[in-house]
Amino acid sequence: MRDTLTANLATIASHYTGQRVIVTWQSSPYWRGLAYRTDAGAVIALHPALTPDEVGHVFFHEVGHHVLDHVQIVASMPLATLATVDTDAIMQRLTAPERDHWDAQTRQHEAQADSWATVALAVFERRFGPFWAAVNDGA
Ligand SMILES: [Zn+2]
Repeated sequence: MRDTLTANLATIASHYTGQRVIVTWQSSPYWRGLAYRTDAGAVIALHPALTPDEVGHVFFHEVGHHVLDHVQIVASMPLATLATVDTDAIMQRLTAPERDHWDAQTRQHEAQADSWATVALAVFERRFGPFWAAVNDGA
């Protein structure tokens, strides 16, 4: 069942971004979803503990990061390693001006991705019905 879900999410993400998107599942203590790139292209990682009610917004939030061109970093490490990276700890090593710049940009990007997700999810559900049922082929 998760194969159908994952394939449907990848198709939807590709539709919105205009590029092939790999959707995968990865638990992390630091995030519930992650948008990043590899040399192979765009990736969206979702936490497997997301509930059916959460998947739609978290998924569209990560799609939004790709659509809004927030994802500049190409990850060279495997996802399982990426999932253990404590971004806040890294930020503490920056200088105060660097950290302020990063914080401001992150806050802006997160707010933009949230707004984008809220609209995209509402439009999707108006057309196809509740997200979870739609992406699980009605199951
Ligand atoms: Zn985000």
